[in-house]
Amino acid sequence: MTIELEPSAQTDGFHLVVDALKLNGIDTIYGVVGIPITDLARLAQAEGIRYIGFRHEQSAGNAAAIAGYLTQKPGICLTVSAPGFLNGMVALANATTNCFPMILISGSSDRAIVDLQQGDYEELDQLNAARPYAKAAFRVNRPEDIGVGIARAIRAAVSGRPGGVYLDLPADVLRSAIDAKTGALSLVRAVDPAPRQLPSPESVGRALDLLASAKRPLVILGKGAAYAQADEAVRAFVEASGAPFVPMSMAKGLLSDNHPQSAAAARSFVLGQADVVVLIGARLNWLLGHGKAPQWSPTARFIQLDISPTEIDSNRAIAAPVVGDISSSLAALLAGVEHAQISPRAEWLDAIEAHKRHNAERMAEHLDAKPDPMDFYSALRAVRDVLADNPDVYVVNEGANTLDFGRNIIDMHTPRKRLDSGTWGVMGIGMGYAIGAAVTSGGRVVAIEGDSAFGFSGMEIETICRYKLPVVIIVFNNGGVYRGDDVNRGQGTDTAPTVLMKSAHYEKLIEAFGGTGHYVTDAVGLTGALAEALASGKPALINCVIDPATGTESGHLKKLNPQSALAHAT
Ligand code: ADP
Ligand code: MG
Repeated sequence: MTIELEPSAQTDGFHLVVDALKLNGIDTIYGVVGIPITDLARLAQAEGIRYIGFRHEQSAGNAAAIAGYLTQKPGICLTVSAPGFLNGMVALANATTNCFPMILISGSSDRAIVDLQQGDYEELDQLNAARPYAKAAFRVNRPEDIGVGIARAIRAAVSGRPGGVYLDLPADVLRSAIDAKTGALSLVRAVDPAPRQLPSPESVGRALDLLASAKRPLVILGKGAAYAQADEAVRAFVEASGAPFVPMSMAKGLLSDNHPQSAAAARSFVLGQADVVVLIGARLNWLLGHGKAPQWSPTARFIQLDISPTEIDSNRAIAAPVVGDISSSLAALLAGVEHAQISPRAEWLDAIEAHKRHNAERMAEHLDAKPDPMDFYSALRAVRDVLADNPDVYVVNEGANTLDFGRNIIDMHTPRKRLDSGTWGVMGIGMGYAIGAAVTSGGRVVAIEGDSAFGFSGMEIETICRYKLPVVIIVFNNGGVYRGDDVNRGQGTDTAPTVLMKSAHYEKLIEAFGGTGHYVTDAVGLTGALAEALASGKPALINCVIDPATGTESGHLKKLNPQSALAHAT
């Protein structure tokens, strides 16, 4: 008897990667093509995944990371081997640091040659290079493992505390052919990849007891709370507690900055005086003075809601940890909050009101001044007023002074609309975040950029124009890092280390790609240009000229820069 062997259809690594991503609901890839992943991008596009091609992998990675933050699905960044991979690594590390779910997929060179260091094209041991900067790192060595590899990467990125995951795909695995049926059977759809994590009832009871004992309670909202998309629960909890709240920068808008319980304008006062603090998805890192004096009272007691058990006690003792996902933890707290009889003292609320009023008056003096040239206050006031009429707009913000002033002056009214330098205080996220936000939401974006910060990702304005994204970039041009008026303390005509070109016409850059450039030197011009650019829904860049002498060394981080005494030459 003879057995007829039907020639079975074949598939290959490229197809299996695309099939696995689609099976898991991935609809967009951000990347830069080249050897060995060009065909992967082509095939993904042919198969209905949107491929957004960048000019630099760091921006592609930043776009993927912010897409992950906004959607709770891992953002995918695709790069070539060694140098392209390393360019993407800053974004991967930044995603891990900020708890954004992202997967960096890089093609890699021949393992046998790489491992013996025999000098391959783009030779690098990428898997080991990625490990310290990623939440998890995997390599797929056989095409039949692609399905499992992608499922593991997705789970690692979105479960528990989200983070950046590296997935290494050697060129020969992508090229390998296998039987199509075997390939199809090897694919894995990750079921419930970010399972709820319920807090223990004891932890909830302990937290409610502590909160009920508070005379001067305070709630801190972090970007973990924003990420969790538990917006109604956050509102209900804050309002039921009656406690003042302070949002971390990317949590601004979770409750409107106009909310009567917002104590943002009295931040230093409430941090220093609170006796019971509820941290909701916020870490006691440098951005919160590590929870210690002088910013905080040494006797304050903390309740911390976090999904990561090892975050607890990381900087100071946490009296009442509530480990679980924010939605579940808030639901559990809300169920008991009515009986807990939380009643902040009237003196506390009155003192906060007095501080808010005082600080608002001081701020108003700066905002109402009309200096010529503009300073950060007057320019940001114009931006604030236009954005107040456009609350749907995403705000991307980076720089030193541009970031610090922007955070304080630009009010947010809806959740997850402010995207900024985040946990690392990193520069270079601007265009990547703007593109990621525009692509995932289809909505409009205003990127408020220091002139130095803009330079790190500025070439992506070609990407913005090519995809016709509704992104408006405002370059706060004071001609320098921090400020533009420092002098060379040595010989020669070189500029000082912090100085950039004073007469730079950034608006002409976008004109090269068909976008609209605006050059403005006063608040009226800025208001008009921003309103027009937003109304057009088209790519635009506003070169906003401000005083080179405005801005402080290191922005609000003077204590991190002890040499800054040298800085005051002018
Ligand atoms: P911020 O900079 O706004 O203070 P951080 O990034 O420092 O915020 O802190 C975010 C925290 O939120 C992290 O400790 C992270 O573990 C936690 N987190 C992230 N997602 C969730 C979630 N879904 N549920 C609970 N905690 C979360
Ligand atoms: Mg500057």
